[in-house]
Amino acid sequence: MLIFLYMKDVIKCAGKETGFLIFCKLVNILGFFGEVFFIQRIIDFVFLEGKEIEVIFYAMFVFFIFIWQYSSPALSAHIEQKILFRYRMKLEAKIYEKISKVKFEYFENSAILEVMNRILDNPADRMVSSFGKILEIISGAVSTIGVMAIIVKIGVVYMIGIVVLILFLLFLFQQIGKIKSNIFCARMELTRREAYLSGLLFDRELAMEKKLFGYTDYIQKKIEEEIFENEKPLRWKLWQSRIITALYDYFVYLFSASAYLFFLVPLMQGKMELGLYIAIIPALQKIGTYFVGLIDNQLSDLKENENFCKDIHDVFQLEEQYYENKEMMRKDFSVIELKDVTYRYPNAERPIIEKLNLKLEQGHHYALVGKNGSGKTTLIKLLLGLYQPQEGAIFLDGQNIKELSFGELQSRFSVIFQDFGRYAMSIKENIEMGVGSFEGKAEKMQEACAFAGIKEEIEKLPEGYETKLGKLKENSVDLSGGQWQKLAVARMFYSQKPFYILDEPTSALDPVSESEMYTNYANSLKGNSTSLFVSHRLGSTILADQILVLEDGKIKEMGSHQELINKNGIYAKMFLAQRGLYV
Ligand code: ADP
Repeated sequence: MLIFLYMKDVIKCAGKETGFLIFCKLVNILGFFGEVFFIQRIIDFVFLEGKEIEVIFYAMFVFFIFIWQYSSPALSAHIEQKILFRYRMKLEAKIYEKISKVKFEYFENSAILEVMNRILDNPADRMVSSFGKILEIISGAVSTIGVMAIIVKIGVVYMIGIVVLILFLLFLFQQIGKIKSNIFCARMELTRREAYLSGLLFDRELAMEKKLFGYTDYIQKKIEEEIFENEKPLRWKLWQSRIITALYDYFVYLFSASAYLFFLVPLMQGKMELGLYIAIIPALQKIGTYFVGLIDNQLSDLKENENFCKDIHDVFQLEEQYYENKEMMRKDFSVIELKDVTYRYPNAERPIIEKLNLKLEQGHHYALVGKNGSGKTTLIKLLLGLYQPQEGAIFLDGQNIKELSFGELQSRFSVIFQDFGRYAMSIKENIEMGVGSFEGKAEKMQEACAFAGIKEEIEKLPEGYETKLGKLKENSVDLSGGQWQKLAVARMFYSQKPFYILDEPTSALDPVSESEMYTNYANSLKGNSTSLFVSHRLGSTILADQILVLEDGKIKEMGSHQELINKNGIYAKMFLAQRGLYV
């Protein structure tokens, strides 16, 4: 079982504390038997032998055992917290590291994404509580075996009787557990949907839309209706669950009550002393409670955590694709060639990119245009090695990029996507994030900000590049959509790579900023760098050396603005249609 592998990890990580926890459980077992033994002695001595001094001595032991039994859960919880503190740092760091390294494609697969999200749900807490539970199960099993050994001495038939009673109890609870788990699974779906809908009411990003459209009442009504509708078929099951929960304790008491009757026979026959008769019943009651706990939650929790371990294991098996060298790196290239590239999204009916051929040369500036959904972003992700084509191949200076490490590719490209990150950190951190440090950092940062058209705005701020961004802290500054976009462009430019890819870099900019950025773009990127930008505003494409028109999975037209206008094809129609809006 995988869970034992993780338990070994817990023991290795918090050796001393795990030792204390095992010690606590051992003392618990001793206390359990001590209680039976001393109570038995007290009764036998007082009623049968009249040894009063010994009785005081034994009573004191019982007193200390009781004190221990009441303080031990708190002590165990405290030790578990200490173990958790140590183990959390280790396990979570390992998981985060792995997730940061796995192939990008996994993030597009909803099943894998769900597993990755699942394992981030308090993984260390689950492992440490499993460790505690396994110790509980072992100590419960030892106590049960011990009590059975005592009962065997009275007569094998009595032991068999108790085993049958316990088995009956187990069977009962197993049936009950099945009903409860069915109800739980059915409710999970409901809870998830409810969490999503109520999340809409608290989502800060949606606050403005919610206010303007006034849809709070609408969502609240939807929650009520959906819960009412979906709970209908569950109503009878929920009733069952309530009755069953009430019966739980009842069965345990029934078990101990039947033991009183059951052992009356050997007591009357003189095969059992009065002390043992009185002492064994509370012990049996504890065992009954132990089995209830075992069936009701311990085993199901362990099973759930075993599945959780499997999830962690599966994530650790995912293929990696990452950039090991954290330092800034720049590697030049001459030509990138796509040959008969075909790409189809998983479960999609038809390919988005189909037998596409394209040659991108160093020093050129390309504009990629096409209708929404024509596959421009997909093509960029293929170029970056984030997706692998199902057919055909992409060659970087003659070498198939499939054979290159992700780091090799990263050292050539810098990208800004439409859904770029907005980080609640300082401006400086937003720009240099992931790029690493290199010489002339401050000047390079200013240059990048000038390119993105945000340098002056930053320098006017009292804390300049150190200004904290976002809405999380009181003294932090929030930027407009356009300013965030400029910052993302600065981040791209700051990384100093030979090939810049800009996917709709000006969608949030006003016309003046947009025109400024394209002028900067024309001035700064010309030279030895290469670029490819996607834009819907066709005026910007005039600056590109080559315009690539993507349609039906292929590059249908390629040429300079003038060439394509003269051709009077797809591009010319798009350009003229857009111009018509302004004239
Ligand atoms: P563009 O950038 O030209 O607007 P995209 O490359 O983003 O187009 O998307 C092309 C098509 O692929 C769209 O129809 C889109 O719905 C589909 N698509 C994009 N991402 C995924 C995905 N992860 N899974 C399935 N289909 C996708």
